[in-house]
Amino acid sequence: MNAPALNVAASHVGTEALGPGVRSVVWVQGCPFHCAGCISPDWIPDRPARNVQPAELAAELLADPRVSGLTLSGGEPMGQAAGLAELVRVAREIRDVSVICFTGHRLERLRVRPPSPGVPALLTAVDVLVDGLYVAALNDGRGLRGSSNQRIHHLTSRLADCGYDFGQGPRTAEIAVSGPEALLIGVPPKGLLNAFDTAVDAVRARTTPGGTPQ
Ligand code: SF4
Repeated sequence: MNAPALNVAASHVGTEALGPGVRSVVWVQGCPFHCAGCISPDWIPDRPARNVQPAELAAELLADPRVSGLTLSGGEPMGQAAGLAELVRVAREIRDVSVICFTGHRLERLRVRPPSPGVPALLTAVDVLVDGLYVAALNDGRGLRGSSNQRIHHLTSRLADCGYDFGQGPRTAEIAVSGPEALLIGVPPKGLLNAFDTAVDAVRARTTPGGTPQ
């Protein structure tokens, strides 16, 4: 039986802003939560985006030989857990990548009441899970998490001693521009998101006929 196709909002090959080493990242479309201040509100609606088979996406994400890990984000990865578990399985046939996954669900809930088929398989495949909802008031500008209530779970020992400080390390972010699209990659340091939105609006105003920012 074929694994379910993924509904992907965006992806990027080769970033150093979302975990240790050079990684590729997948942001899935659709999230059941509505955290105030979510940095990716366009990816909350459960609507069709890019429909792609896990094997096709795995080959794409690992095309750069420098890539040593995958980061799964969104949207809510646990809503598409079966497809993401298959993505990781196929990716690891190509290269033994580490896997970091963000989720708004708490780990305890995922284990007791998984929100979609494939959650147990995905949890087995993930090395580091960053869990919990984003709380803007608890955004302390530190670590690979949006706010300090979110927890870092080393589900395997693979990245536990790699020297990367998931909880308190400095944040970095990258901006990838492709045609009219600009993608902010990483957990943005405080203030960067507003600056990014302002810059994108300014560029659109200069390049859109009529000049009205969207
Ligand atoms: S869980 Fe993440 S993607 Fe979903 S609304 Fe909250 S911050 Fe946004």
